[in-house]
Amino acid sequence: MSLVTDIKSMNNDEIRQLCSDLGLPKFRADQLYSWLQKAGVSSYDEMTNISKDLRQTLSEKYPLHCCEIELKRVSKIDGTVKYLFRLHDGEFIESVLMKYKYGYTLCISSQVGCKMGCMFCASTKSGCVRNLSAGEMIGQIHAAQRDMNIRVSHVVIMGMGEPLDNFDNAMRFLALAGDDKGLNLGMRNISLSTCGIVPRMYELMEKNLQITLSVSLHAPENELRSKIMPVNRKYPLDELMKVCRLYAKKTSRRISFEYAMIAGFNDSPECAKRLAQLVKGMLCHVNLIPANEIDESSHKRSGEKALKTFCDILSSQGVNVTVRRSLGSDIDASCGQLRSRHEKQSPSGRE
Ligand code: SAH
Repeated sequence: MSLVTDIKSMNNDEIRQLCSDLGLPKFRADQLYSWLQKAGVSSYDEMTNISKDLRQTLSEKYPLHCCEIELKRVSKIDGTVKYLFRLHDGEFIESVLMKYKYGYTLCISSQVGCKMGCMFCASTKSGCVRNLSAGEMIGQIHAAQRDMNIRVSHVVIMGMGEPLDNFDNAMRFLALAGDDKGLNLGMRNISLSTCGIVPRMYELMEKNLQITLSVSLHAPENELRSKIMPVNRKYPLDELMKVCRLYAKKTSRRISFEYAMIAGFNDSPECAKRLAQLVKGMLCHVNLIPANEIDESSHKRSGEKALKTFCDILSSQGVNVTVRRSLGSDIDASCGQLRSRHEKQSPSGRE
């Protein structure tokens, strides 16, 4: 028997089982699944080929939860859209919609808050409230698509939360998102970002998925990394790099290392050389991100010059490196900022 009870997290087989328990035929189940996963309706009333009686029964037995837009901000600079969504229990999460030449990318959250405690990150400042269900991760995509009347072609699980700390739901999300009877997203168009929970990375590796694994590195040696990322004290760099190497080899997928450039902390030429050493010979890519400054931390982003020198050193050592374009800088587009400010304004969590 399935442990999943919320209908938006159920896969096609589970929906068929649910329908069969209600005495309904397979084709009805498939219609229902398509409304839930492909169309992404926000209410049973939208399911026009399903009878009123059945819609009534379903809505009583299986309430349909979706992401309600609490706040929406649109960047005047680049059109990036930041959403603060309200979940059915009154919790808030964030998603960011970015437009690229190849289509729309949605950055989704995997938890309400986060317990990883990275010093520079706004999402983790009040801990982790709860995991998101697979349906709530899918729901963010549906809500953005509906609001903007567009199709999201790429997803990055880089919003609030640590997806590998919510492993089963994250895996269920990937299966649902990739289903050709649902959103039908190619696994190659999905990135999952982790701060480096090594045992879960081995587990992920065994699934041999074609997703892009992003690893938040942010420092090339243990002492420095442990200062800003508590997870490094549990899973230090040698263990992390070992699993990364194996992962890239086993899946033949290039790992993407995220490196937030913090002025005077991890942006020296010496750090660049160490980083080059660390990733040498590996199927990977380094993404340099000028750190976003947040209310809760005093760190400052690196200047242009430090960024360029750092980038040049990596390139000259043969490392694949890019500097990430900052989108939505006028709308607090980086993770956690909107939620924490919103909660400060309205401590009850609602306005
Ligand atoms: N927990 C996962 C995914 C969510 S965070 C992870 O750690 O990878 C997504 C990315 O944003 C991570 O690389 C994270 O380190 C980075 N990030 C968080 N706060 C940031 C900030 N203030 N400036 C730049 N990058 C930040």
